[in-house]
Amino acid sequence: MDFQFIGNSVWIDFVNTRVSHDEECLTTFEDLLAWALEAGVIDLGTKRSLPKSVSRTEQKRILRDARALRTTLVGAAKQMLDGARPRPSTISRVNGLLRDHPRIIQLRKRSGEWSSQSELVSSGADGILAAIAEDFASFVVEAETSLLRVCQKDPCELLFYDTSRNHARRWCSMQICGNRTKVARHRARQSEHAEAYA
Ligand SMILES: [Zn+2]
Repeated sequence: MDFQFIGNSVWIDFVNTRVSHDEECLTTFEDLLAWALEAGVIDLGTKRSLPKSVSRTEQKRILRDARALRTTLVGAAKQMLDGARPRPSTISRVNGLLRDHPRIIQLRKRSGEWSSQSELVSSGADGILAAIAEDFASFVVEAETSLLRVCQKDPCELLFYDTSRNHARRWCSMQICGNRTKVARHRARQSEHAEAYA
C-alpha cells in the first residue's frame, strides 16, 4: 500500500489513509501496522510481534476502532477547515483515548547517556490510536489551525499542515498533484495559443 506522509502531522497522515488514489488504505490490521511503522508510531519489533499476540477478533476490533477514530478526525479536520473548533464529541473521544493510555516517565540509558523518556503504560495495538490522539491533542493546542489545508487539485482530498515559509503550499505534493496541475495548465496554454493562431 502506498501511504502518503505529506501531512506534517501524524494525525493528518492518518486521516489521509482514508483515500489514496481512490483506494481505502486501511483494509486489514496488517495495513494499520504497516502505516504505524512508516509513521514512526511503532517500531519494527512491535510490528512483527503484534499480529502474534493479538487475537483475530481483537485485530478486527482494533481496525474498526481505528477507522472510527479516523472518521472522527476527518470531521474535526472539516470543522477546522471551516474555521471552527473541533466539536465536544471529538474532544471527548480523544480524551477517552488519552485517559485509557496514560504515559509515564522512565529513565533509560542509551550509548552511556541517561535520558528520561515518556512511554505509554500499556503498549499494544491500541497504543497506535493513543499516539494518533496525542498528536491531535498537541495540534489543537499548538498549531495554527488556519494553516490546515486541503490539496487544491480536485478531486484530491489529501490534507496537510502548511509549514512552508510563506504559507503558500497548495498541493499535497509536487509529485502527485503539483506536477499534474502544472502539466494541465501548460497544455491549456498551448491549446489557447494553437487556437489563437488557427
Ligand atoms: Zn493532491
